[in-house]
Amino acid sequence: MKDQRIGSPSLRDMLIVIISAFACTVIMSSLHAYERLYLFTRIYKLQLFQEFAVFLPAFLAMGFSLLYYHQIQKLESEVTRRRQVEKALRESEQRYKELSITDDLTRLYNLRHFYNQLKKEIDRSIRYNNPLSLLLIDIDNFKQYNDTYGHMVGDKVLSCLGKVVRECLRKTDSAYRYGGEEFIVILPETKGEDAINVAERIRKGFEAEILSPRPNKAVHNTVSIGASQYETKEELEAFIKRADKAMYMAKEQGKNRVYLMELT
Ligand code: GH3
Ligand code: MG
Ligand code: MG
Repeated sequence: MKDQRIGSPSLRDMLIVIISAFACTVIMSSLHAYERLYLFTRIYKLQLFQEFAVFLPAFLAMGFSLLYYHQIQKLESEVTRRRQVEKALRESEQRYKELSITDDLTRLYNLRHFYNQLKKEIDRSIRYNNPLSLLLIDIDNFKQYNDTYGHMVGDKVLSCLGKVVRECLRKTDSAYRYGGEEFIVILPETKGEDAINVAERIRKGFEAEILSPRPNKAVHNTVSIGASQYETKEELEAFIKRADKAMYMAKEQGKNRVYLMELT
């Protein structure tokens, strides 16, 4: 890219100003403009030299003023352009960052982001002594659904569950695709019994969705959800494991239900 110094005029610019001022002065002198002006006012008559002495600095000052004004304009438009480029860069950086932590199919966050966020939330929960809960969601009999209607139709169920989960969350909650057909939700500042309410909203919301795997066929799918509240000084893995255990308890008790793992 061409290195252009903005704000300071180049030697060429200055030469143009000086030559223009000189030319203007010669023209004005040859027209006896100054003399005529004073003749008109009938005060006194000036020599050519005096006309030069008066016009040249005046035109030079005018030229330099215009030149600097032009430079300032150039500088301002360059600053605006650079600000726009920076803004566009920041936006695209943000978009790429979002894409790198988002699951395409469900539009929930991905597993990598989950571990980072859970670590942060555990630290926050310890620091402020706030409750923290997890929900582990698993689609019921999904293998059978896939086997019956095909993997691509199964993908629609996953994206539908992603939509339902997003709709049921509060601003501070965040949801992630944990595995193939398993989702996990972090609920900061939430006790186990309150986590159950969120889980029930998701369970009922998903059950109410009508899916059409084939023309003229309406199907309702269900999920089983396990909930766990963070126990003081518990390891991250143990916290997740308890939510997983709770989800298996929900499966064992007949699926399409929520199970809370009690604090020990
Ligand atoms: P359960 O009620 O006990 O959870 O039974 P299930 O059939 O849902 O559980 P299982 O673990 O046996 O099957 C999970 C299925 O999820 C198997 C796999 O084909 C399907 N699956 C995992 N990832 C994807 C995916 O990205 N797309 C689709 N369509 N299916 C997936
Ligand atoms: Mg599963
Ligand atoms: Mg399943």
